[in-house]
Amino acid sequence: MSIRLCQECCQWVSTRDGRCPDCQDVLPEAIDPAESDTGFRAIVGEVRGRMGHVRVSRRKLPTDGILYMTSSGLFFLPYRSVTRRRLVEQSATSPFWTIAAVLWSPLMFLSPFLRRRELREKDFVEHEPIRLGKDDLQLLPEFLSRVPGAFFVSIRNIRSIRQKRNRWIIDRSFGSSVTIQPIADGPFAQEMQQFLETRL
Ligand SMILES: [Zn+2]
Repeated sequence: MSIRLCQECCQWVSTRDGRCPDCQDVLPEAIDPAESDTGFRAIVGEVRGRMGHVRVSRRKLPTDGILYMTSSGLFFLPYRSVTRRRLVEQSATSPFWTIAAVLWSPLMFLSPFLRRRELREKDFVEHEPIRLGKDDLQLLPEFLSRVPGAFFVSIRNIRSIRQKRNRWIIDRSFGSSVTIQPIADGPFAQEMQQFLETRL
């Protein structure tokens, strides 16, 4: 199983046989992002603004990210994974003393003194939004080939968008439907409504 970019469908996919599950194209293991930038810029169009933080229902690909509205469709930019080193408290009892204390009971009396806490560095993987300033918004298309999990759904490929409770289901003419759900407070529903009224 690998994660690859389908330039035809403007989406990263999880694939077992190296083909895009939607268009069946054979996908190269790696692409040169610079080569695809011009094409993606033309497809994505002008970035109109941020709609909000959303969760995409899918497996094996990043689920949380930010949805943007563009002149040609909807762009999903997943959160990035960052490894952070933090100090955590750990018990520093040596296994030798633990075993010795079990085998020889007088040592049990001493064990609280042998057990001490110490701080150790540990790596944690965290997910955080990629923040784009107003001036950087037009760089969005370039993230498509550089951030695994990003995708773009063009207006031409949207058959319908329906709301089901707090989820929005985007039915595509080509490819499987995409279900998204806002994960932060904000005017996401109004933004989506505006997109439906003005773009579709
Ligand atoms: Zn495809």
